[in-house]
Amino acid sequence: MPDRKIKREDIPAEMERLHRAVELSKSQIRDASENLKEALGPSQTDLFEGYILLIGDPALTDLVRRTMERELIGVEKAFSSAIDSFANEMAQLKDEYMRERAADLRDLGERVCRNLLGVEVDIPLLPTNSNGCDQWIVITDDLPPSVAARMDSKRVAAFLMSGGSRTSHTAILARALGIPAIVAVEKRFLDVVEDGTLVALDGGTGEVFVEPNSEVISEFDRRRAAAAVLFDHYLAESKHPVETLDGYQACLVANVELPSEALTVAQKHNVGIGLFRTEFLFINGMSLFNEEDQFNAYRSTVEAVKPYSVIFRTLDIGGDKFLSQLKMPHELNPFMGMRAIRFSLSRPDIFKIQLRAILRASAYGKVRIMFPMISTLEELESAIGILEEVKDDLRRDGIPFNERLDVGCMIEVPAAALMAEQLMRHLTFFSLGTNDLVQYSLAVDRSNPRISYLYQPAHPSIIRMMRDVVKVAIEHGKWVSICGEMAGDCLYTPLILGLGIQELSMSPVALPSVSMVIRRIRMHQAEDLVDYALQCGSAREVQDECKRFLRAHCPELVIG
Ligand code: PEP
Ligand code: MG
Repeated sequence: MPDRKIKREDIPAEMERLHRAVELSKSQIRDASENLKEALGPSQTDLFEGYILLIGDPALTDLVRRTMERELIGVEKAFSSAIDSFANEMAQLKDEYMRERAADLRDLGERVCRNLLGVEVDIPLLPTNSNGCDQWIVITDDLPPSVAARMDSKRVAAFLMSGGSRTSHTAILARALGIPAIVAVEKRFLDVVEDGTLVALDGGTGEVFVEPNSEVISEFDRRRAAAAVLFDHYLAESKHPVETLDGYQACLVANVELPSEALTVAQKHNVGIGLFRTEFLFINGMSLFNEEDQFNAYRSTVEAVKPYSVIFRTLDIGGDKFLSQLKMPHELNPFMGMRAIRFSLSRPDIFKIQLRAILRASAYGKVRIMFPMISTLEELESAIGILEEVKDDLRRDGIPFNERLDVGCMIEVPAAALMAEQLMRHLTFFSLGTNDLVQYSLAVDRSNPRISYLYQPAHPSIIRMMRDVVKVAIEHGKWVSICGEMAGDCLYTPLILGLGIQELSMSPVALPSVSMVIRRIRMHQAEDLVDYALQCGSAREVQDECKRFLRAHCPELVIG
């Protein structure tokens, strides 16, 4: 950044230059957002509005002015030091979401500085590759979403990053754009990769090969071709029910975060939504207090997915998901703290707006409501009590909604699994949230790589809990779904089926392999597998048996 000295009387002109550069940056961000609207849907591009607010923050411009007054330096230098100090502060925050926004702020700061200096800010065009391959893997420390968003998804084959996380906006955008991304790769491995190097990666397995030999290349080509065949097969069969060889039908549905994904799910996969994680709407900028916006988002989802159903899970914030619009206090153990239904019950004002918006959307298609992280009967009763109050309000206001709407809850806390009998009396269905059920049962932080060896979905205790929950539901003539990541891992499909779980909700990419497994097996084989698993003493034994089973019935799905 140019190290210019200025006079005090130059400050207003310098501030005016900053104002123009900020306005230009805002319009560039708006253009990027416009370009992406079609691909991502309007709500997904809401995050750009957040960026516009970030660079227009009066506290930031104030700091720039004060720095210039104190140090009599040019606006570029003053601005970049202000951005540094804001970003450093953000990077120290406990809130993971805000920490991740520090990288965005630096990216935006760079854009403003480039505009101040009149330097072209467009993403460099990816050059045509000399070896005949016209797709590139973008390798970077951390890719700001504003850059990722402007990449040509036809030319970018994948992202490989040392930074990022499952919840970063770059990961969200990459997934929405259909670009495979591997995040949190050790930086020392990435640093040695030079421009133009051939890299092969498998977003499914997380494998990365730098300068792969011909064997690896043909193996990856084979995997890609096999995935395409699997997908074609899946599409060809998607008009028929997904059922086992002996006619047991399963219902496959999708987990989605945003209404725009719902459209893809409906058009491409022809399935309903078994888990709509509503909190992502608010993480991307929608106001928790705006009933109309929420209603429109829910209604467009419901209409896109018609005639299938959508399960809207009420807000699940806390844990590792925070909202900048709420000043949530720091907690020592956020996963065990003010999360999900606990938060909603503590803020009935916010909870009621969400329930009202969902109920209103239920007049436009098949809607179900699900409460997350229930751990006591009182919580469930309070949640249902508030739902009934909101229904009364709607009746009084003459606003239509589905009076017979299904209500369920997640089973993701061991206490809820053990109290299934008492909970079920108030509900139509359960959804097994194995991501958290494993975390809370085995006391293993689901996002801590150091203890990932203990993160065992096939642990016999988990299988037993699932069995007992299903038993209760069946006795009450109700149904059970599973929406944790386990549902999309075809290794466990026979086990899930054998347990009697009727609905499997997963990331849409998993639908082809899971449906293939179901179509290749018989129910009694799946039940035998469950009997075996229940006798096992360790997750490893269960996993080995599941692998043998999968190899015997779907060898093409077993890699390695
Ligand atoms: C789960 O816990 O399994 C689940 C689906 O919820 P989330 O991953 O959003 O916590
Ligand atoms: Mg969960």
